[in-house]
Amino acid sequence: MTIPLVVVRGDGVGPEVVDAALAAASPLLDGFELVEARMGLTCYRETGSALPADTLEMLRDGGLALLGAVQTPPNAHYSSPLLRMRRELDLFANLRPVRDLRGGPVDLVVVRENLECLYAGLEGGNEDTALAIRVITRQNCERISRFALELARDRSEDHRKVTCVHKANVLAQTCGLFRDTFTRVSGDYPDVPVDELHADVCAMRMVMDPGSMDVLVTTNMFGDILSDLAAGLVGGLGTVPSGNIGERCAVFEPVHGAAPDIAGKGVANPAAAILSLAMLLEHAGDIDGGRRLSRAVESCVLAGETTPDLGGSLGTDAVARAVLHRLETDTVEG
Ligand code: ATP
Repeated sequence: MTIPLVVVRGDGVGPEVVDAALAAASPLLDGFELVEARMGLTCYRETGSALPADTLEMLRDGGLALLGAVQTPPNAHYSSPLLRMRRELDLFANLRPVRDLRGGPVDLVVVRENLECLYAGLEGGNEDTALAIRVITRQNCERISRFALELARDRSEDHRKVTCVHKANVLAQTCGLFRDTFTRVSGDYPDVPVDELHADVCAMRMVMDPGSMDVLVTTNMFGDILSDLAAGLVGGLGTVPSGNIGERCAVFEPVHGAAPDIAGKGVANPAAAILSLAMLLEHAGDIDGGRRLSRAVESCVLAGETTPDLGGSLGTDAVARAVLHRLETDTVEG
């Protein structure tokens, strides 16, 4: 029996990196039936909808998806299909593992609440004053805290600390609820070390001592910013994967966006998309396949078989072929 895998190529570099990921991982995909769905700006221009109802249904039914990237223009009349997809499918956790594939000390995971905060879509005001409402609920604080603490248990003993990142000294109600809920829930996980940091101090610490960070759990906007900061520590957005995880479905995507400046040039780094597919495989139960695929990407980076953003000279497709080669011939270290 095959498992449906919904593939959404999206905009900009999305189609290039998704095709590269599927090619690189092809020996591991025999158990999946690939089903194509559409989302994003190109889809909006062609169909009038950035997230058509049939795409949502396919994601809901299929349960597993790989997404390239979608472009969201700064236009008050165009709302982000990504935010709507996360809300409609209740994808409450955004998981962003950031590792330095070049061998540096960074090996952290940002666990970001994915539905609320200032991204809840509640903006208003008049021409003189603009408002955005920050929504933080106990229910989501609780499930994101549990998600992070459970995830920490799967990490090696010396990389298991969960840091709650907030700004409760200023946002006493919203961040206060987040911090207090985390503190209460962490009582159920006596085997997981925990601490807390203000978001601004966390940003500084991340730059000055990134090796000291393991699992960071935080609200939506802080998580968005801190995970891009972390990406900057490991060579840019080209290698950072992510998963949007819910109780019934999960959508995996590179952290980077559509990157219109390099789209169509064949130079986009496919590593983030390949590693997103590796996360999908592990989530689907193929732990060995996912880890082998991740190690193949890592070996390529260490060998300099990379795109220009990481100092290499290969194009997107050549990197995919190099990863596939290492996967097939098992010339993978570690
Ligand atoms: P979004 O708001 O959708 O996250 P963005 O415009 O903030 O998008 P990205 O599209 O993610 O940002 O890209 C930021 C820059 O990072 C790009 O201009 C590009 O130069 C670089 N970049 C992003 N993805 C890749 C990639 N896969 N390979 C190489 N460089 C990339």
